[in-house]
Amino acid sequence: MLGAAVQVVVLGINSYKNNNITLGVRLNDHILGKVTNQDSREQTDSIINTYENTTIPIAVEGTNYTGRITLRQLGEKADKQKVYAALLDIGHSGNPFEQLMDQNASLFGGRNISLDHTGFNNALAQQYITTLNEKVGTKPVDARFALNNQVVGIYPDAKGLTVDADAAIRKILGANPEDGSLVILPVKLTPAAITSPLLQPLLYQARNIAEEPLTVTASTSKITLSQEDLINLIVLNVVSDPDNKSKLTIRISFDELKLNSIVNDVVQQAAIAPESTIVNGGQIIKQGKDGLKPAETRPITEVLSGLLKRQNGQRTVDTIDIPMALVPSPVIELAANNPTSRTGTGMIRLTFDDGPGTYTEQVLDVLKKYNVHATFYVIGRNIGGHASTLQRIRNEGHTLGNHSLTHSDLTRLSRAGILHELSTTQTLVQQASGVAPTSFRPPYGAQNQAVREVAASLGLSVDLWSVDPLDWSQPGTNAIVQRVLSHDNAGSVVLLHVLHRQTVDALPSIIEGIRTQGYTLE
Ligand code: ZN
Repeated sequence: MLGAAVQVVVLGINSYKNNNITLGVRLNDHILGKVTNQDSREQTDSIINTYENTTIPIAVEGTNYTGRITLRQLGEKADKQKVYAALLDIGHSGNPFEQLMDQNASLFGGRNISLDHTGFNNALAQQYITTLNEKVGTKPVDARFALNNQVVGIYPDAKGLTVDADAAIRKILGANPEDGSLVILPVKLTPAAITSPLLQPLLYQARNIAEEPLTVTASTSKITLSQEDLINLIVLNVVSDPDNKSKLTIRISFDELKLNSIVNDVVQQAAIAPESTIVNGGQIIKQGKDGLKPAETRPITEVLSGLLKRQNGQRTVDTIDIPMALVPSPVIELAANNPTSRTGTGMIRLTFDDGPGTYTEQVLDVLKKYNVHATFYVIGRNIGGHASTLQRIRNEGHTLGNHSLTHSDLTRLSRAGILHELSTTQTLVQQASGVAPTSFRPPYGAQNQAVREVAASLGLSVDLWSVDPLDWSQPGTNAIVQRVLSHDNAGSVVLLHVLHRQTVDALPSIIEGIRTQGYTLE
């Protein structure tokens, strides 16, 4: 440990400007600094102040961490009394600086200062290093399962990292900011301590789990986990007995997050969205297809139990099949409820309100698949963070419309309030997508003279709807499809929302049904 008095070399008192240095002062065979021709005590104070205010930056580096400290933060401080004494000692009488100038002109322009001082605060420095260790240090790992030459073992190669406090303080005190002010603090590697006999049964267990690859299947999709994948899933859990801290229990568990994401990948690949079957007057116009979705069981539990099942020390399961459930093709009966099923030749337009929202992108995917163009009435305050969605709407040939800033009933607002709702949304849509809307849909369809006049003043036409399947109330996918396609709800502008899954699921049948009826979609 360092003694109480530490000699610190401080460099770079930055006062050698303008080449007009007249004096240098030396202390303990070092140049204390330059001063100008002023009162000596004042000059001394100025040197000390300069020194004290010199925040020597020390960059520290550790794993994933770079920080800066200064000696001042560690308690570095000049001992003024010592400096005064030394100066007086040198000077004897008269002006010590003038005397020095006479004695040794070659000192002029020197830049080093060295002070004996007692201000360095070791406790503070230790505290700093402790904090630093919390940031950069890593704990040694008792043991880690790994594969080495295809053999599952417990290997002591995971070492902990600690900043070596004593060495670090010595380095900080010796820091020379002119070296580039970067101090790499020394770290100690703490070797992993294993070889505990406790680990032997775990090793045995780990070998069982990882010896053979494991295949996870769901319907036609599959993922095979190699020996190495399996090892990476194994986690050692060290539990200490609360009554006896020195008593440790180590057991094997699994990284459920990793396992979950593997299982999810398999299931997502296997999932199939159902396609609707469209029936008109008992005749199948379009045969749909059944879909597949994950069964209600928790698939990860299946995998975990499969990994642990064994007989005579061997894992007995090499394939785990995640159950999938059939989603029957929804049947849309065009004529069942509508004996005079609608047929026609007109144009029907789909509109999607209240976005950008959770399902905007999925709606866009369906529209793209069927090559249908729609109008999206967006709410200004929902736009933040969704600029790319608005750009996609525009790039894929759809129209962006104004659906107010806050989805308020505009008939209850003043003209200024209406203007704010509409014009702010114009700006937000323009900023996000590069184009300003030319049509406006009042929230709840609520409009009056003032609303229409303000909209017109912004060049916005008011666009309402003629078909409202109330999809926002989540009446069920089939009900949404039926309502859009039913005769008694015939019309040319369909109001839909981007708020719920059901709307997305109904969309393919809506589009196919409208086309089957003979109408054209924009
Ligand atoms: Zn709305």
